Formats: sequence, C-alpha cells, structure tokens
Amino acid sequence: RAKQSGRGQFRFFDTQMDHLARERRELEHELRQAIAADQLHLVFQPLVSTARGQVVGYEALLRWDHPARGRIAPDIFIPIAEETGAIVPIGEWVLRRACRTAAGWAGDVGVAVNVSPVQLLVPNLPAIVADALAESGLAPERLELEITETALLRNRETTLAVLHAIKALGVRIAMDDFGTGYSSLNNLQAFPFDKIKIDKSFVSSVEDDEAARSIIRAIVGLGRSLNLPVVAEGVETDAQRRVVTEEGCPQAQGYLFGMPAEHPVLPAMRLRSVG
Ligand code: C2E
Ligand code: MG
Ligand code: MG
Ligand code: MG
Repeated sequence: RAKQSGRGQFRFFDTQMDHLARERRELEHELRQAIAADQLHLVFQPLVSTARGQVVGYEALLRWDHPARGRIAPDIFIPIAEETGAIVPIGEWVLRRACRTAAGWAGDVGVAVNVSPVQLLVPNLPAIVADALAESGLAPERLELEITETALLRNRETTLAVLHAIKALGVRIAMDDFGTGYSSLNNLQAFPFDKIKIDKSFVSSVEDDEAARSIIRAIVGLGRSLNLPVVAEGVETDAQRRVVTEEGCPQAQGYLFGMPAEHPVLPAMRLRSVG
C-alpha cells in the first residue's frame, strides 16, 4: 500500500516536472519572439539624492507583457534569456531604447541600464553602446551601466577589456547588488567602477537588524576610501531613508521615492523635498 502511494507520488512529480519543463520550453520559445512582437517594455525608477531629494537619474527595468500570462517580472525571464542567449539581442534592445528615452528627458538626468554577465562576454558590446549613444544623441555621461559581481567571475580578462572600452566612451559603471554575490573586495579595485549599489536586502532589514546597519556603514566606508559613492537600493520607509542618509549614502532608490513607471515623473515636475 505504501509502495503504491509512493509510486503515485512519483507519478505526480513526473507530471509536475513535465509540466514545468514544457512551460519553460514555451517561455524560451516565446521570449525569442518577444521583441518582434512588441511585448517588451521598459519602466523607469527614480534615483534621488538623499540630501536634497532631487531626482538625479532613472534605472531602466525590463518588463515582458505576455499576451496570455500578463506582465512577467525579470527575475523569471532574465535567467531563461541568459541561458538561451536571447539576452544578447534583448539587452541590445534595452540599451537602445533606454538611451532613446533618456535623450528626450530635460536637463542632465541620467539613465542606468542593467547589463547581464552574458552580454559582457560579447566583445562587440562597446560598439553597441557607442552606437546606442550616437543614434540617440544621448551624452555618454548620462548613461550608466549596472553589473553584478557574477559578471566578474566568468571571464575576467574579457570582462575587464570590455568594461575599459565602455569607460573610454565616457560611460559610467556601477556595481549592482553589492554584498550578496561572491563579494570580493579585490573586484572593487580591479574593475573600473564608478559607484556601488548596496543590495536592498541590507536596507530592508535595517530597522530590526543591527548587523544590517553595520554592513551599510562598512560598505559606505569602503566606498569612501576607494572614492566610490554608495547608493542604497530598496528604500521603502522613512526610517530606512533616515538610516541610509545618516550612514552617508549620497543617493538612494526605492518605492518610497518612486515606483518603476513607464512614464516617470520628470524632475522639473517633482520638486517636493524628501530630505
Ligand atoms: P536590480 O537591477 O537590482 O533592480 C532593482 C530591483 O528592485 C527592481 O526589481 C526594482 O523594481 C526593485 N525595487 C526597487 N525599489 C524597491 C523597493 O523599495 N523595495 C523592493 N522590495 N524592491 C524594489 P525588478 O524590476 O523586478 O528587477 C529585478 C532584477 O532583474 C534587477 O535587479 C536586475 O538584476 C534584473 N533586470 C531588470 N531589468 C533588466 C534588464 O534590462 N537587463 C538585465 N540584464 N537585467 C535586468
Ligand atoms: Mg540594477
Ligand atoms: Mg540592484
Ligand atoms: Mg537585483
């Protein structure tokens, strides 16, 4: 009897696995057509100066509006796109679209674009960045690329060369989600970063976890000694904003300041101080 139900379990798992595998194959296939089918969209989330509450830039975040499944978050489809290589054309689309959108913004508001480790292994990335800037007319100083530490593990030589070539265009580079990955302090020195973004997990636990605050303090100190501004991600409450401001983060990002939106409120219209 036990044996029987055991077999039943297996059958259940098999069906589940089949279902998941099939769903994944479908997503892979559909993702490849998502650009052409006009299903990809960018939303923009403000990055503010903690001292004055001014919007200093926006991070472009990708969304997939699936005809049957609705809006799919990047945490679901980016890993699939990375495994299949679809991230290369998708990432290029993101870069071009983000530059074109930002070129239409008044003032010197910048745009930050997330770049996958897979894109960094394609040697023509600097040429694509240069072309996205030329075609949009966006000044290079207004573009920032965000990369995570996993990007540095794959192929250090290629990644380093690609990052230097991008820097030579006048584009800035931020280390994203700092503190979560395979944080090697050596990476901060070996790679040409202009900014550190503290992962939101530290910010979100700062109210009830003393250690989180100490970690933020340590990262800000590290940034100071390396001359890298440290940005706090995922600020949702006033208390969190107060802590990251006190600890010396010159910029912050989070739902408290603004949700990612297709048509962000531009700084000229957003003079309310959050400081
Ligand atoms: P990320 O680059 O670290 O982006 C920040 C994420 O935190 C975004 O999630 C944003 O919506 C979310 N966020 C912002 N403020 C808050 C807050 O106050 N609280 C909380 N809980 N979350 C907040 P999203 O848009 O779902 O993106 C997730 C990740 O997907 C990004 O993390 C990035 O790694 C990746 N991603 C997004 N767009 C792209 C893209 O165009 N290309 C690549 N390669 N990756 C992307
Ligand atoms: Mg990012
Ligand atoms: Mg991040
Ligand atoms: Mg992230």
